[in-house]
Amino acid sequence: MIPKLILNEIKIRSDRLHPKEAGGFLLGFFKDDAIEVSHLTGPFTGDLATRTRFIRKDPRHKLVAVSEWLKSGRICTLVGDWHSHPNGTPVPSSIDTNTWSKMSKKQNRSMVGIIQGQDDTGVYWHPVNSEQSVSTNLVYEDGTCIIREPTLPP
Ligand SMILES: [Zn+2]
Repeated sequence: MIPKLILNEIKIRSDRLHPKEAGGFLLGFFKDDAIEVSHLTGPFTGDLATRTRFIRKDPRHKLVAVSEWLKSGRICTLVGDWHSHPNGTPVPSSIDTNTWSKMSKKQNRSMVGIIQGQDDTGVYWHPVNSEQSVSTNLVYEDGTCIIREPTLPP
């Protein structure tokens, strides 16, 4: 998917649940110094969605992830997650950063997060073994949606 389509899709799916939060997995491919986002999951009816929380509970997030993994010859995988802040800015809460931190520790890889705010979208890179996320952006490269590893301060 191209970045505009990914962001449009996240906006459409967020609007559908407004004023409740929406969310799901980001699926794609790990590159040398970048992550390609190719699919997103959710939200599904079995998730827990309120105005201030979104918890993936529906088994379909995992089913879609496994199905894409198999379809791609076992390379398309979990690269992060997305959710909306229907009533606020796209800045990660401490819970969000904590969730990405746990996710990247579990996968032993850097992960990415996308937050759809009321008016704009935030894209974050969460380095492996880090407690902090770095704000970045999506780029279009070779027909794909790429999030490049940001240059981190020493
Ligand atoms: Zn959040």
